[in-house]
Amino acid sequence: MQIADKSAVTIHYSVKNDAGEVLDTSRGRDPLVYLHGTGSIVPGLEKALAGKSAGDKIDAKLAPEEGYGLRDEKNVRKLPLRKLSGEGRIGPGSPCRVQVSGGFQLGRVVALQGDYATVDLNHPLAGMALAFEVEVVAVREATAEELAHGHVHGPGDHH
Ligand code: ZN
Repeated sequence: MQIADKSAVTIHYSVKNDAGEVLDTSRGRDPLVYLHGTGSIVPGLEKALAGKSAGDKIDAKLAPEEGYGLRDEKNVRKLPLRKLSGEGRIGPGSPCRVQVSGGFQLGRVVALQGDYATVDLNHPLAGMALAFEVEVVAVREATAEELAHGHVHGPGDHH
């Protein structure tokens, strides 16, 4: 069957930047399973995969707007250190979690000044042109329960 809204889709993917460096890949681990038409993968990739079937391979070159969006300098914020947590010592370049109302957001520390840190909350791939290589592994209809939850269930998932 072909990928359409409400398909549960299994893919293997690699994504490279302009310089051809691999930024992320599912090769060597479990493939990615997602619910098509829900915006759970970047818009350009969702568009490129519509109508494809198991076994198809695609190359999709995406402008930043079709990928993780443009960088927004408003997402670079000066925050009190007590709002930050991370693995080990927090310093320039370290990934961190920032307390926001209702949960956490992931960011990267740009600089420290006293009790404050400048944190970049943009997605690390924001502002980048991306080249995806995707292999469609499987396509099936999502179940009513998956559609109600807005995500795909693996074998043995009960929630
Ligand atoms: Zn669920």
